[in-house]
Amino acid sequence: MADGGDGGPGAAGGRVPAQPQERALWCDERFDFQATFLQCLAKHVPNIYSAEMDPLLEKQEEMVQAAILYPLERYLFGEDPDTFLEKLQQSETSQLCGKVFKGGETTYSCRDCAVDPTCVLCMDCFQNSIHKNHRYKMHSSTGGGFCDCGDTEAWKAGPVCTKHEPGASGSPKENSECQLNEEVMEHSRRVFPSVIKYMVDMLIWEEEKELPPELTISREKVDSYYCVLFNDEHHSYDHVIYSLQRALGCELGEAQLHTTAIDKEGRRAVKAGRYASCQEAKEEIKRHSENVSQRPLHVEVLHADVMAHQKFALRLGSWLNKLMSYSRDFRQIFCQVCLKEETGSGKPCSISKLMLWDAKLHKGARKVLHELIFSSFFMEMEYKKHFAVEFVKYYKALQKEYISDDHDRVLSVTALSVQMFTVPTLARHLIEEQSVITTITETLLEVLPEYLDKNDKFNFQGYSLDKLNRVYAVIYDLRYVLISKPTVWTDRLRERFLEGFVSFLRILTCMQGMEEIKRQIGQHIEVDPDWEAAIAIQMQLKNILLMFQEWCACDEELLLRAYKECHKSVMRCSTNSSRLREKTAFHLCGHTLESRPYRVSLDPVSIHLPLSRTLAGLHVRLSKTGRISRLHEFVSPEEFQVDLLVEYPLRCLVLVAQVAAEMWRRNGLSLISQVFYYQDVKCREEMYDKDIIMLQIGASLMDPNHFLLLILQRYELADAFRRIKPTKDQELIKQCNVLIEEMLQILIYVVGERYVPGVSNVTKEDVIMREIIHLLCIEPMAHSAITKSLPENENNETGLENVIDKVATFKKPGVSGHGVYELKDECLKEFNMFFYHYTKTQHSKAEHTQKKRRKQENRDEALPPPPPPDFCPAFSNVVRLLNCDVMMHILRTILQRAVELETHLWTEAMIQMVLHLLSLGLLEEKQQLQKSPEEEVTFDFYHKASRMGSSALNAVNILMLLEKLKRIPQLEAQKDMINWILQMFDTVKRMREKSSLTTVAATSVSEATKGDETQSTQDKEKAERKRKAEAARLHRQKIMAQMSALQRNFIETHKLLYENTLEAQGKEDAIMEEESMSSIDYSRIALGPKRGPSVVEKEVLTCILCQEEQEVKLESAAMVLSACVQKSTALTQNRSRILELSGDTLDPLFMHPDLPCGTHTGSCGHVMHAACWQKYFEAMQLNFRQRLHVEQIFDLENGEYLCPLCKSLCNTVIPIVPLQAQKINSEDAEAVAQILSLARWLEIILVRISGYSVKNAKGEKQNAPAFVNKGLGSSALEFNSILSFGVQSSAKYSSSIKEMLILFATTIYRVGLKVAPNEADYRIPMMTWSTCAFTIQCIENLLETEGKPLFGSLQNRQHSGLKALVQFAAAQRTTSPQVLIQKHLIRLLGVLLPNFKMEDTPSLLEVDMFHVLVGTVLSFPSLYWEDAVDLQPSSISSAYNHLYLFHLTTLAHITQIVISSAKESPTARSHDNSEEACSAQSFCREVCQYTSGCFSQDIPGWLVWDCVKKGIMPYLRCAALFFHYLLGVSPPEELQQVSEEGQFKALCSYLSLPTNLFLLFQEYWDTVNPLLQRWCADPVVLSCLKGKSIAIRYPRKRNSLIELPEDYSCLLNQASQFRCPRSSDDEQKHPVLCLFCGAMLCSQNTCCQELVNGEELGACTSHALQCGAGVCMFLKIRECKVVLIEGKTRGCLYPAPYLDEYGETDPGLKRGNPLHLCRERYRKLHLLWQQHCIIEEIARSQETNQIFFGFNWQLL
Ligand SMILES: [Zn+2]
Ligand SMILES: [Zn+2]
Ligand SMILES: [Zn+2]
Ligand SMILES: [Zn+2]
Ligand SMILES: [Zn+2]
Ligand SMILES: [Zn+2]
Ligand SMILES: [Zn+2]
Repeated sequence: MADGGDGGPGAAGGRVPAQPQERALWCDERFDFQATFLQCLAKHVPNIYSAEMDPLLEKQEEMVQAAILYPLERYLFGEDPDTFLEKLQQSETSQLCGKVFKGGETTYSCRDCAVDPTCVLCMDCFQNSIHKNHRYKMHSSTGGGFCDCGDTEAWKAGPVCTKHEPGASGSPKENSECQLNEEVMEHSRRVFPSVIKYMVDMLIWEEEKELPPELTISREKVDSYYCVLFNDEHHSYDHVIYSLQRALGCELGEAQLHTTAIDKEGRRAVKAGRYASCQEAKEEIKRHSENVSQRPLHVEVLHADVMAHQKFALRLGSWLNKLMSYSRDFRQIFCQVCLKEETGSGKPCSISKLMLWDAKLHKGARKVLHELIFSSFFMEMEYKKHFAVEFVKYYKALQKEYISDDHDRVLSVTALSVQMFTVPTLARHLIEEQSVITTITETLLEVLPEYLDKNDKFNFQGYSLDKLNRVYAVIYDLRYVLISKPTVWTDRLRERFLEGFVSFLRILTCMQGMEEIKRQIGQHIEVDPDWEAAIAIQMQLKNILLMFQEWCACDEELLLRAYKECHKSVMRCSTNSSRLREKTAFHLCGHTLESRPYRVSLDPVSIHLPLSRTLAGLHVRLSKTGRISRLHEFVSPEEFQVDLLVEYPLRCLVLVAQVAAEMWRRNGLSLISQVFYYQDVKCREEMYDKDIIMLQIGASLMDPNHFLLLILQRYELADAFRRIKPTKDQELIKQCNVLIEEMLQILIYVVGERYVPGVSNVTKEDVIMREIIHLLCIEPMAHSAITKSLPENENNETGLENVIDKVATFKKPGVSGHGVYELKDECLKEFNMFFYHYTKTQHSKAEHTQKKRRKQENRDEALPPPPPPDFCPAFSNVVRLLNCDVMMHILRTILQRAVELETHLWTEAMIQMVLHLLSLGLLEEKQQLQKSPEEEVTFDFYHKASRMGSSALNAVNILMLLEKLKRIPQLEAQKDMINWILQMFDTVKRMREKSSLTTVAATSVSEATKGDETQSTQDKEKAERKRKAEAARLHRQKIMAQMSALQRNFIETHKLLYENTLEAQGKEDAIMEEESMSSIDYSRIALGPKRGPSVVEKEVLTCILCQEEQEVKLESAAMVLSACVQKSTALTQNRSRILELSGDTLDPLFMHPDLPCGTHTGSCGHVMHAACWQKYFEAMQLNFRQRLHVEQIFDLENGEYLCPLCKSLCNTVIPIVPLQAQKINSEDAEAVAQILSLARWLEIILVRISGYSVKNAKGEKQNAPAFVNKGLGSSALEFNSILSFGVQSSAKYSSSIKEMLILFATTIYRVGLKVAPNEADYRIPMMTWSTCAFTIQCIENLLETEGKPLFGSLQNRQHSGLKALVQFAAAQRTTSPQVLIQKHLIRLLGVLLPNFKMEDTPSLLEVDMFHVLVGTVLSFPSLYWEDAVDLQPSSISSAYNHLYLFHLTTLAHITQIVISSAKESPTARSHDNSEEACSAQSFCREVCQYTSGCFSQDIPGWLVWDCVKKGIMPYLRCAALFFHYLLGVSPPEELQQVSEEGQFKALCSYLSLPTNLFLLFQEYWDTVNPLLQRWCADPVVLSCLKGKSIAIRYPRKRNSLIELPEDYSCLLNQASQFRCPRSSDDEQKHPVLCLFCGAMLCSQNTCCQELVNGEELGACTSHALQCGAGVCMFLKIRECKVVLIEGKTRGCLYPAPYLDEYGETDPGLKRGNPLHLCRERYRKLHLLWQQHCIIEEIARSQETNQIFFGFNWQLL
C-alpha cells in the first residue's frame, strides 16, 4: 500500500492517498459519515494494530495515515491536508501560549505583576516579556500546569509576551482570526461528533472480549488475546521486573523492557495468545506480585481487537490535539460537541464522561486526554467556563475517585482545578452559580468521616499519609477559589459565599477541640500519638482561614452575619463539651469570681480551636471597621458570654505554660512538637496570636479583676498568691515559679501587644516592620533567614521587601557566607524585650545583644518597653487590667518576696516582668496625661502603686519596695531598670501635681534641670559601677579562657601548638637564611661547576600522634608525612582522549606532552612517626571491623584514612628523607671541566652502557640497546671510566625508612596505574619519577595562575609535601634492583643521546621533556653501581651529570618548541635584530635543512625567539623547583618576586643556561648536530610539519573551569533545550554540566547509564572516569548545585556559585530569586580543582553531612 511511503521525510510528508474507491466513498456527499467512518475503522484498525507485542511503530503510523487519517482529513478540509493546514497555520495565531509543562521544567512568575503565584510563564514567553526586568521567581514545575502568557486575568501588567502579541508573528491581517470556510465548518460539525463518540466509547469500554456491534462487522472473531499489565504507584520497578520474570519465565532484559514501557505508557501487553493462556499468565503475575508486596499488580486480559481500537482511540486523541492548535473554529466546534448532552438521557456529556472515567484510565490515555483539554477548552475562555461548570458539577465524584486512585496528582484530572479556580472571574462565577465553596467543603466533609470520633471530632491517629495528602489537594482548591478577593459584591455572591462559609464552619466544628490530650501522671506514655496530620491540616488551613476573614471583612453586612454564624458555632461547641460542673467561688483582694472548676493539669485539653480563633479574627476586623457598635443587633449580650469565649484559648495558653514548667514530661515528644508549631511562624497567626487576641477581647469586655482571677485560677496559681504556707517540695516550687513567669508574660502580652490592625490603628506594614526590627535586634540576619521567620500570605509573600530598607541596611557577603541585614540605629528604640514572638532563646539572645550594645555606648542598661500605640476603642478597656486591685496584688506580692529574700519563691525573670508591667502602667498614665487634662484621666496607676494597703500584706507600697529592691545584690543587673521606673514615677507624679497644660510644659523644663543635678551623682555612681563591672568582666574572661582551653579536645589543642611551632620554625629558618646570606654571598647556581652549597638545617619534627620530637636522620626511625595520591587530568587540554581505565599493560616511562593523565601526590603537611602512624592505621581498621554497619567515608582496603590532625583524606604516607648536604670546591670543579666536556661525558656513558649490555647479555637475552659503537676506542675509555671523576658510597637508610620507601612507592604504583599492589613490579620506579615530575608541574601551574612568585609563596603543606616527595624520589632508587633502574635509564637516554636509539624510543614530539629530565636525573646514579658495592657519584660528578642532562633535555625541548611553533604567523612586525633573533634564524636554517624543507625558513628569527622564550618558561620553572628541592641550593632572589623579565634571567642563571638559549646549540654543535638530525628526521616530526598532525604548542594552555553565564536563567534555558542523546521520550531529564569540559549530560537516568567493567554507572560517574580520571565537578542545573564526585562511591553537593541580590545562594532553587554568577566563588572552585583538593573536600563534607551516605553516587 505504501509505495511512496519512504519518499517523504516524516509522517506528514509521507502520506499516501488512499485507494481510489475508498476515496470515492469518503467524498460522496450523501453518505452517512458515522457509519462509513466506523466501517472504515472496523476494517483497518485491528489489522494495523495487530502486532501489539512487538510493534513496528513507523509502519503502524504509516498505515494509520494512509488508511484512515488521510481520507478523514481530506474529507474534512476538502483539499489536500498539508496545503490546507499550512495555509491555516500562517493565518492563525492564538493569543494564549498554553504550553503545558513537563515535570522539572523551569517556570517563571513575576512578583510585581502576577495576580497570584500560580500564574506562571514558560521560559520562552518569560524571556520575551517585560517581567524579565521585574522581581521574578524561578521554579521547577511539578508537571501538568500551563503557561499563562496571554491570559489578561493572570497579570496586572504585561500579560502577553512579544511572541504572542496579536499580529506579532508576521500575520498580515489585523484581525488575526481566520474564519474557516463554511464547508469545512460543516464537515467539522459532522466529523467531530463521530470521532469524539468513538473515542469516548473506546476509552471507557469495559468488555474484555467484545467490541460494540458496529465495529464487529464483516470480521470473524479470532481467538487472539493479550495479557495486559497496568502501571501503579504501589509497586516498585524491581517488584514488577521480578514478578514478570517469575510469572512469564522471561529474561531480565525483556522484563526490564516491559517494565520501562509500563512505567511510561501506563500499560503494556506482556503476553499474547489464546484466552486461557493469557488468563493463566494473569493469575501467575498476580500471585507473584502479591508475594513480594502484599498487593497484586493490576492485570487484565483483553481481546486483540479491543486493544487495537483503544490504541487507535488515543491516536485520534492526539490527532485532535494537533488539529486544535490550528484554528479557533475547530476548538469551538470541538468544545460544543464535547459539551452536548444526549437529549433527555440525563447522562453526562462526552467530556464529563471522560473526566469521570479519568481515574480508571491508564497513564498514557490520561496524558492524551489532559493535553486535549488544555489545547481546546483552556484556550477558549468561554469554553473554559463551561468546562469549569462541568468540573464543579462532578467535583465530589472526581475528588473521591482521585483519593482512591493510585496515581500521582499530576496524572489526575483533578489537578486541573488550579487552572480554573484561580481565574478571578471564573472563581466568582463558580461561587455564584455553582456554589463551589460549599461543594468543596462538602466534599471534604464526605471524604473525612473515617477520621471522626464518637464526639464528631477529627482524630487522625493511624492515618495514611498518602491518603491525607490527597485530601490536602481538596483543601488547596479552597485556597485557589479564595485567592483573589472580589471587588464588587452582588447579593447572590454574598449569599453563596455566606453559605460556603457556614459549610466551612462545619469543618472547623469538627476540628474545634479535636485530639484532646490528658496529662500523664505516674507512668510515661507508651507510644507518642500521631500529631503531624492535625498540625499539617492546621498549616494548610492557616491562609484559608485568613482569606475567609478577609473576604468577610470586604462587606460590613457580611462581616456581621459571618460573626453571628461563627459565634453560634463556638457557643455550640463550648456548651456541648463543658461538662456541667457546679460553679464555685474564688475570693481574692475582696473580689470574687464564680466559675466552673476546670484544671488543665487534670482535665482533657486540646490545642485545636479554629472556631474560637476565627471568631477572634472576625472580632478584630469588626473593630477595625468600627462597626462593632452594631454587634448587639446580631448577637445579644446575653448570648455573648465572653467568659466562655475566653475559656478555651486560655486553657491552651495554660497548657503551653505547664509544658514549659515540665509538668507534661510524661506525655512525650508529640506534645512538645505540637506546642512548638502552635507558636511557630507557620501556624501562629491562626493559633497562638489569635489566642492572645481572644484574651484581649476578654480583658476588654470583662471586669478586670474577674478577668485576672480567672487567669490566676486557670494557671492554677490561686494559692500561690494567697500567702498560704508554701510547700517544701522543691520540684513543686520550681514548677510554680515557671507558671508565675509564664502568666506574667501573658499579662504583658495582653496589655502590651497591640500590633494588630483592629487592636490598634497600625497598618500591615507597621506589623512587618516590627517583626523585622525584633529579629534584627537579636543579630544581623540574611534575607532568607528573615523571610523564613515571617509569616507568608496566600501569595507566599511576606511583605519584607516593601519595608526592609526602612529599618535595615544591607551588608554584602565575602567569598563565603552570605549578605546580611543590619538594623538601623534609629530603630533600636522600638525594641521590646518581651516581644511575644520571641522564643525563649531569642528572648535572652536579644536581651544580651541589646544590653551589650548599650554598655558599649556607655549608657545605662535599662531596657524599658517602647510606648505602645493606643488601643482601638473596642479594646481600650484592656488597660484597666494594669491598675486593678488584683494586678496590684500580684505585683506587690512578687516584689515583697524579693525584698524579703524568700529566695526560692521568686526569680530574677519574674522581677523583670513585674518591672515591665510597672513600666507599661506608668507609660500609659503618662500618655493619657499628655493627651487630656489631669482631672479627666481616671487611669490612676501612680496612685494605686504608691498607696499603702491596710492589711499586713499591703503594708508597704510598690514605690518603697522598689527602693529596697535596688539594694539587693542578686538584682544588680536590674538596677538601671529600677532607676528608670523610679524616675517615671517621679515624672507622672509631677504631671499629676501640676495639672494645667502650661505647667506640664514647665515641668518638663524643670525636669530637665533637675535631671542635670541628679546627673552628676549618677555619673559618679555609674563610673564606680563601671570600674567594678570592668574588673569583674576581666576576671570572668580569664576564667572563661581557662575553661575553654581545658574543654577543647586534645587534638585541637595540639593542633594549635603544632601549627605555632611550625610557623615559628619557618621564621627561624628565614632568619638564619638571611643571616647566612648577608655573611657569605654564596653561589646561587644549582648546576655545573659553579654549583652553590646546599642550605640544610637540622630538621626536628614533632609527631602529631605522640607529640614527641625527633630529628630527621638517615639512620633513625622513619618519620612520615600523611599524603594523598590521585590520578589527575588537571593539566590536559584534550579531554576527549580515551583513558585506559586499568594500567595493567601501560608503560608509564614516557609521558605524552599533553600530560593527559598524571599521578599527583599531595600532603596536608602533618608529620608522624612511621610506627605511630602504623599503630593508628591498624587501630582504625580494627575499629571499623567491629562496627561493620557504619558506612565509612574512606576505603580502608585501599589504604585510606583521615589525617588524625586535620581530617583530610589520605591514602598513604611519604617518608621524610633528609637532604644530603653537598658542597663542592669550585676550583676543583672548574679543573674537571677541562677534561669532562659534553662530548667526553657522552662517550663515557656510552661505554658504561655498552659494558652493562655486554654483561647482561651473558646472563639473559635482553633487548640490548642497538647503538652504534662509533667513537669508542679512540681513547682509553673503558667500562669503569665513569667512576674516575669521583664516587662516594651510597647513603645508608635505616630499615624503617627503607620500609616506608617501598610502601609509598607501591602506593603510587597502585593508585597511579589502578592495579593491584606488587612490590616487585618493574614500573614502580617509573611511577615514582612520574609523580614527582607531574606534581611539580601542577604546582608550577598553580603558582602561575595565582600570580605568585615561584619561590617563597608555597603553602606550608605544599612546601613540605614537595620537599619530601623529591627527596623520596631520589632515595627510592636504592630499594629497587639497580639493573632495573639502569634499564629504565637507558630507555630514557634514548631520547637524548646521539647515535643511540632503541626500538621504543618515542619521537621528539611525543614525549614531555620535563618528565625525561626528572627520570634521567633520578636514575642516573645507578650507572655508578658496581657489583656488591653501593657507589654513587661524588658531588662534583653529580654537578656535571645534572648539568649535561639538563642541557640535553633543554636542547630537546627548544627543538620541540621551534617545531611546534612552525605554524605561528607573525602578529606584529618587528625589526628586532638582536643576537637571540640571529641565533634563532641560523638554528632554523639547520632545522629546515634536516627536515628537507618541511620546516619553513620564512619564519622571522625574532618570532622564533619569542616563541621559545615564552614556550620554555614553564619547563624552566619546573626545573628550578625540581633542582632546588633536590639539591637545596638557594635560588636567586628574583625568583621570590613576580617579574617576567627578571624571572627569565634568574632562571637561566640558576640553571646554568646562557640567556640566549640558542648559544647552547652553538656551544655543543658537534655533539648536538647528529642528535638534531635524528630528531628532525623522525616521521612523526615530518608529518607534523607537513600539517598532517598537530603537535602540542608551548607554553601549554593553562586550564580553567568552563565559562559560566552571568545570569542563571541562561543556564536554565540551556537546560530546557537539552535533549538526551539516547532517548526521545518527553520524560523529565536532569541535565548536568561538566565544569571541566562543558559537556552536558543526562544524569540519574537509566537511558544514559553506561556499563563499565560490568557495573552500571550513571552518565556523570562514567563521564568523570574519562574527563577527570574519576574526580570531577558538575553543575546540576535544575537544582542549582555543584556536585563533586570521586570514583563510584563518593561525592558531595555544594551550592552553585550564584548569588541572589541579597548575597545568598539558592540550592534547589527553593527561593527562586534571580541569580548572578559570583566570580570569587567560582574561582574558589577552580582552585579546589587545580590544588587537587576535591577528594579532600568530599571527605570533609561527608564527615560533616552524613546524610549523603544514602545517595547512590554510582548512578549519578
Ligand atoms: Zn509560554
Ligand atoms: Zn508568550
Ligand atoms: Zn512583571
Ligand atoms: Zn609518634
Ligand atoms: Zn593533616
Ligand atoms: Zn567533562
Ligand atoms: Zn539520557
